[in-house]
Amino acid sequence: MIHIAIVGSGPSGCYLADVLAKKVKDVQVDIYERLPTPFGLVRAGVAPDHQHTKNITKQLERTLSHENVRFIGNVHIGQDIQYSELKQHYHIVAIAIGASVDRSLNLDNAGQGVYGSAAFVGWYNGHPDHSDLNPSFGNDSIAIIGNGNVALDIGRVLAKTREELAQSDISSAAQKHIQQASLRNIYIIGRRGPLDASFTPMELAELGQLEHAVTLTDSNSIPEILPENTDPKLARTLEKNLKCLHQYANNNANSKAVNIHFLFSASPTDIQYQHGNVCALTLHNNLADTPATTLDVGAIITAIGYNTAPFQGLPFDETQGVIKHKDGLVENDVYCAGWCKRGPQGVIPANRADATAVAKQIIQALELQPPTIDKPGFAAFSEQLAALPWVSFSGWQRINEAEISQAQTPKPREKFTHISDMLTLIR
Ligand code: NAP
Repeated sequence: MIHIAIVGSGPSGCYLADVLAKKVKDVQVDIYERLPTPFGLVRAGVAPDHQHTKNITKQLERTLSHENVRFIGNVHIGQDIQYSELKQHYHIVAIAIGASVDRSLNLDNAGQGVYGSAAFVGWYNGHPDHSDLNPSFGNDSIAIIGNGNVALDIGRVLAKTREELAQSDISSAAQKHIQQASLRNIYIIGRRGPLDASFTPMELAELGQLEHAVTLTDSNSIPEILPENTDPKLARTLEKNLKCLHQYANNNANSKAVNIHFLFSASPTDIQYQHGNVCALTLHNNLADTPATTLDVGAIITAIGYNTAPFQGLPFDETQGVIKHKDGLVENDVYCAGWCKRGPQGVIPANRADATAVAKQIIQALELQPPTIDKPGFAAFSEQLAALPWVSFSGWQRINEAEISQAQTPKPREKFTHISDMLTLIR
């Protein structure tokens, strides 16, 4: 039998497992996951009010229930089991650990009161690593740095009312904390102009449909038409974004309880603190030689992309923040897939395409050089695992059922935000 280990149970790991389990003859695919729960970014990164996207877990769940796929949760490769041991006992190892480390703003005094989007989104999504973040919202204004979809997600979640989030799976504790902040101004700040923003039209338009928030921008910062040299592949998206931003420029400030302001071509240059808390953010205007703008904000969230966490024993590309690889091959019989390979770009279907391509590579390599020695795979770790509270697929199913049943209608689930509570449940 061929034994394949996948590290990481996000969409990339699951898609990889799906193809390998179906296409490789006589194979066992074991997915190792650091948390007791599967699905990575779908569970802890996709916005809690985007349940249509989160529904993809139904498909990923089917993969985990294949008879030749095994979910091994709450096992940290690098701590509980060494990567070298995994390599020794499996024919193939594939790394799909995503990109979970917030890129830093590179401002000397960015400290308390500045939160990276991985931590902030993880917090309101109930990720156990971030469940105790309890961000300090020093006043009723907040700045979000970055012009990608993550910045939009955060702005929208902060601006939505309790009723608008009723059908989401936002952590109840985080929701309460956000509501107590009574935010009045949410600034979404891009260092370049609207034509360089990477948000997509549907997500941008969602900010125009909020019950208690009005979205605003300065019409002078929004071009009327696209430049002649616009890449035709981008033109449709950019036209829709411009149209939407022009509508926002016509809105009236304070016409609703919360103002969401888009500020373009502005770079953070200084953060001011009072009694250790953020009280203001200074922005340099990147277009004109005008005086700097200072916003009185009580918290700052950076949504400026992610790096992969360096993985014990694997070469790491410091510049790109990804695992070093050549077309997905890291070293003999070791592959990587998803954001730890390509960087943090693209929606979930892009990870499916990428994982499928890596799976094909693995299949080709196995066909060219079928393994000549037997390896035990999972059986090699029975003693180590017996000493751990590892979580099987049925353990995850119990967590899943409990989360669904403890949610207050119409919430789809109320997540456990601490690992100890999940382990107590299934013990
Ligand atoms: P992103 O799209 O790459 O956006 C990152 C933003 O951060 C860019 O505007 C970038 O500006 C800015 N930035 C980077 N370094 C900066 C710095 N030092 N100072 C100021 N600004 C800086 O990344 P993301 O928003 O994290 O999203 C990651 C991926 O997930 C994207 O592909 C996104 O579409 C996807 N996603 C999709 C959805 C959805 O479909 N609903 C939701 C969330 C995420 P520059 O362009 O100038 O570098």
